[in-house]
Amino acid sequence: MICLGIESTAHTFGISIVSDQKVLSNIITAYKPKSGGLIPGKLADHHVEVLEDTLRKALEKARVNIKNIDLIAFSQGPGIGHALRIGAGLARSLSILLNKPMIGVNHCIAHLEIGRFLTKAKDPVLLYVSGANTQVIAYEAGKYRVFGETLDLGVGNFLDTFARELGLGFPGGPRIEEFARKGKKYIKLPYSVKGMDISLGGMETNLRQKIKEKKHSKSDLCFSIQETVFAMLVEVAERAMAHTDKNELLLGGGVACNKRLQKMCEIMCKERKAELFVLENQFLIDNAAMIAITGIEMFKAGMKTNLKDANIRPYERTDDVDVKWR
Ligand code: AMP
Ligand code: MG
Repeated sequence: MICLGIESTAHTFGISIVSDQKVLSNIITAYKPKSGGLIPGKLADHHVEVLEDTLRKALEKARVNIKNIDLIAFSQGPGIGHALRIGAGLARSLSILLNKPMIGVNHCIAHLEIGRFLTKAKDPVLLYVSGANTQVIAYEAGKYRVFGETLDLGVGNFLDTFARELGLGFPGGPRIEEFARKGKKYIKLPYSVKGMDISLGGMETNLRQKIKEKKHSKSDLCFSIQETVFAMLVEVAERAMAHTDKNELLLGGGVACNKRLQKMCEIMCKERKAELFVLENQFLIDNAAMIAITGIEMFKAGMKTNLKDANIRPYERTDDVDVKWR
């Protein structure tokens, strides 16, 4: 079975061709604002602009004729409405033109499913850290459940904001990682874990003051922010593993590309004799391969999305979805 996957929840427009869990192509076109945050309308314009080229590249790289596509999978939510609409629209058009079924996929769940299919992980806890999302997700009793999450800001957006204020550029995460490597002194920052959740608002206020005071170097600030925020993430991930009695940790989301975060997770897993799984960067960041892989699994379990239900679900929660394919 050949599936064409479409990802368009936020700044990434992606198309991937997957054949029986083998990724034949995974084209990622990311929108980068020249300054400031993401403006929904501009995001949609970008996705429309790159749509044809991304589709052509994905088919060419996979050496697949569009007529041979058996299934169309698209990210249905959660995400930014303007962006989601472009992907869902393309899915509907292709489904009608090719007369092939389509399936709407939950983006957060897809981050976990791609790990189960591309690594040896069987039943992992997912630490999903991206721009807008920060969640600890695991399978329990028929659903993917959120065991912990951020109460305010997503870690990626937090890093991007902070990097912008320090004048480090966009995207902020990789720039902070670079500066952090040169950091020597740990500056104490508010550490805020509340049960299974984390909160970054207090740290944001505290950091604004520290930047204004100009007492600390950029590298020391970047180093300290990574150490503090990542320790919070590792703590909630470990607590979820302990409560669910699972011994596999999977990373997902753009922030998971960070080598220091990977290292800290590795240490935690080693200490509790658990296994850590880290995908290649192209499968950690937002991508359409994960949408196609999950779509195939759902379809094989008898699920599909009718034209009238192929709307977008900007606010869909991870545990709204009945997992019939596991
Ligand atoms: P996503 O929404 O999953 O595509 O992830 C995008 C986010 O990942 C942005 O906020 C980036 O700043 C962040 N990011 C990308 N690479 C890194 C890195 N090496 N370290 C920390 N954050 C990163
Ligand atoms: Mg994502």
